[in-house]
Amino acid sequence: MDADDSRAPKGSLRKFLEHLSGAGKAIGVLTSGGDAQGMNAAVRAVVRMGIYVGAKVYFIYEGYQGMVDGGSNIAEADWESVSSILQVGGTIIGSARCQAFRTREGRLKAACNLLQRGITNLCVIGGDGSLTGANLFRKEWSGLLEELARNGQIDKEAVQKYAYLNVVGMVGSIDNDFCGTDMTIGTDSALHRIIEVVDAIMTTAQSHQRTFVLEVMGRHCGYLALVSALACGADWVFLPESPPEEGWEEQMCVKLSENRARKKRLNIIIVAEGAIDTQNKPITSEKIKELVVTQLGYDTRVTILGHVQRGGTPSAFDRILASRMGVEAVIALLEATPDTPACVVSLNGNHAVRLPLMECVQMTQDVQKAMDERRFQDAVRLRGRSFAGNLNTYKRLAIKLPDDQIPKTNCNVAVINVGAPAAGMNAAVRSAVRVGIADGHRMLAIYDGFDGFAKGQIKEIGWTDVGGWTGQGGSILGTKRVLPGKYLEEIATQMRTHSINALLIIGGFEAYLGLLELSAAREKHEEFCVPMVMVPATVSNNVPGSDFSIGADTALNTITDAYKSACDMAEARGRHQELCIPLCVVPATISNNVPGTEISLGSDTGLNAVVETCDRIKQSASGTKRRVFIIETMGGYCGYLANMGGLAAGADAAYIFEEPFDIRDLQSNVEHLTEKMKTTIQRGLVLRNESCSENYTTDFIYQLYSEEGKGVFDCRKNVLGHMQQGGAPSPFDRNFGTKISARAMEWITAKLKEARGRGKKFTTDDSICVLGISKRNVIFQPVAELKKQTDFEHRIPKEQWWLKLRPLMKILAKYKASYDVSDSGQLEHVQPWSV
Ligand code: ADP
Ligand code: ADP
Repeated sequence: MDADDSRAPKGSLRKFLEHLSGAGKAIGVLTSGGDAQGMNAAVRAVVRMGIYVGAKVYFIYEGYQGMVDGGSNIAEADWESVSSILQVGGTIIGSARCQAFRTREGRLKAACNLLQRGITNLCVIGGDGSLTGANLFRKEWSGLLEELARNGQIDKEAVQKYAYLNVVGMVGSIDNDFCGTDMTIGTDSALHRIIEVVDAIMTTAQSHQRTFVLEVMGRHCGYLALVSALACGADWVFLPESPPEEGWEEQMCVKLSENRARKKRLNIIIVAEGAIDTQNKPITSEKIKELVVTQLGYDTRVTILGHVQRGGTPSAFDRILASRMGVEAVIALLEATPDTPACVVSLNGNHAVRLPLMECVQMTQDVQKAMDERRFQDAVRLRGRSFAGNLNTYKRLAIKLPDDQIPKTNCNVAVINVGAPAAGMNAAVRSAVRVGIADGHRMLAIYDGFDGFAKGQIKEIGWTDVGGWTGQGGSILGTKRVLPGKYLEEIATQMRTHSINALLIIGGFEAYLGLLELSAAREKHEEFCVPMVMVPATVSNNVPGSDFSIGADTALNTITDAYKSACDMAEARGRHQELCIPLCVVPATISNNVPGTEISLGSDTGLNAVVETCDRIKQSASGTKRRVFIIETMGGYCGYLANMGGLAAGADAAYIFEEPFDIRDLQSNVEHLTEKMKTTIQRGLVLRNESCSENYTTDFIYQLYSEEGKGVFDCRKNVLGHMQQGGAPSPFDRNFGTKISARAMEWITAKLKEARGRGKKFTTDDSICVLGISKRNVIFQPVAELKKQTDFEHRIPKEQWWLKLRPLMKILAKYKASYDVSDSGQLEHVQPWSV
């Protein structure tokens, strides 16, 4: 926590940021094309990282137009000019389309304007058009310089000095239409907006039987439509890349009426703006509505989401993505040589990569070409792994074959939730049940965790039983923290009675411990010699074997939202008496060790009401005071939420157990905040993980800051309780839960196939696994192996990937920190996904 971080890992092979200097360099940053939430976070990261390494950073306002026009459109940025923009949607430096930049003449002017300020490093945040323009500009650079010299606008020296232009791109686009990147900046926030609307529509379903046709953005790319459909369990989805088969009109109506017959009150159809049929003819929302009304006579409404999708505050995911990529972009610029091609920094799985810009652009154009030429399978393949995977999962979960067409395996597969509830658990159960049924198994649900297991609370669960589960928070099956150890006998009996052939466990650290206990008990109880797999679901994100767990993303959003609402609340309190109650409804203490904790529905609804009230009141509240918010997060000993919440919300400090801190650190943090309050920055945010220190409690830190800040700032503290576990799951958690659990079920099916007819006993380590995401892969790891990687006392993995990002938060909050750049993105090549 100290200002000069000496505790960061050191190693001779590691390469640290200190070796890279930006002294004497000038970086220009611009946002271009359509705006997207999270662009501001990227701008903030570029500016602050640039300044941190000693470079000058210039805002280029209004995209390429500002570059062509020059003058006050190119202005040096300082630390404070990017304050308080992390949570703001859109882009503060403006974005525009620019005809002039498409001409050489325009680009000549732009080059001249850049040279006047010595800018030879460009960071472009935009879509494929903007990046293509940047690439062209870079290619022409030396020619432009010569022409400027010929015209006498620059001298020979300048031609030599500024001979190369380095270009790094970041893709900002809500459509996620750029090949080579798993997620573009803004996509996740757009999904949040869409899902908010779907959830709102769902609630009216109780009173009316209706069909909703929801049109989402995506003129050329169906990503938003596809993922929204996955996240809300839509009845049907129309995408440009994968048009429906001929005769779809009839098929769709049959599907809708079947769902109606199953007493579903609501049908949801999602349409991408650019949806087409196999003949490349547009399929419009109106056409779909007409069809449903004339064929089925259903009450049908069309909702076109439009610009709402670009609006609102960026999600935690987008802020973290954009912050990481902004920092990567600066590093890439510092490392660039005359031979490095213009590149895009992006994310592959959870791994930062650099890709040659033109390869990405080329492949993105190839997708369009494939669609134009009606090679739709190619289009899906070219979109990449994530897209193809989503499409596959959607198809498996939305379409049920008639029972007599599914070959039965005569296997019973049980699903159980273990540990504290985490948002996304229900999506995971739904997906497991449906994939299991499609694979021919009989699916059993175990209620109330291992406790219920021992007592025989086990029932068959069918396809329709899990309808509509995707968006529900908490755990519908019921979950408990109880471990199986003391019930081994009873559980073995139940396994036998119900002839359970495989087990899927969805849960957190207890689930992991439980799996270890079952594994150890295999020798004694042969009932446990069946394939078992766990998918991690916990807000703490502390399960060994996975970079992410289901539920952690929702919790992160709660943290960023809470800070926003706390700020709004603080501003509004002076003016509005009625606001002087609500924050106290948050539970004062939470212990991660309470058995069977459930979310109380009432308090969550109350909290939402508070947040909404805040948002409304915010508009009337203007004056700001110097104030520091101290927020306690959950996570047990695992600092993931505090650390990543800190990165997403722009915290000044995040106290976590993994990085011990002492009184000197606290002092330096307080002094840092005092300094900060002397500037135009008026707010501070400090996060504290609940178990970061036994003695430096949240109250202690609050009192220390209050005392030391006297006369400079005042403090507010807030303990984020179970709201972090509850509420509606974020789109990320819904999809992650859905996909990972489908994978787990496929694994179970494959294992059971191996065993068919041979009554095989599964005794080897590789038949009892945790399924997780590591860097860019989804992997199954035997619990026996993960054991070595676990700190059991503190219930965390010994190595945690996100600790590497910790210096980022510090650097962006103006601390000095040592940042390991040895695994910053290497230059790679774009590859289509081979199916
Ligand atoms: P996006 O970046 O979101 O794809 P556009 O395609 O509208 O958005 O591109 C944004 C801007 O980038 C354009 O207005 C133009 O100034 C510039 N641009 C796009 N394509 C080119 C190109 N081929 N050559 C030069 N500039 C381009
Ligand atoms: P799923 O929604 O999980 O895919 P089904 O395909 O069996 O399950 O049924 C889907 C129907 O349930 C659709 O009409 C869908 O719009 C509707 N539905 C989904 N979620 C809800 C909800 N929370 N409340 C009411 N209806 C819902």
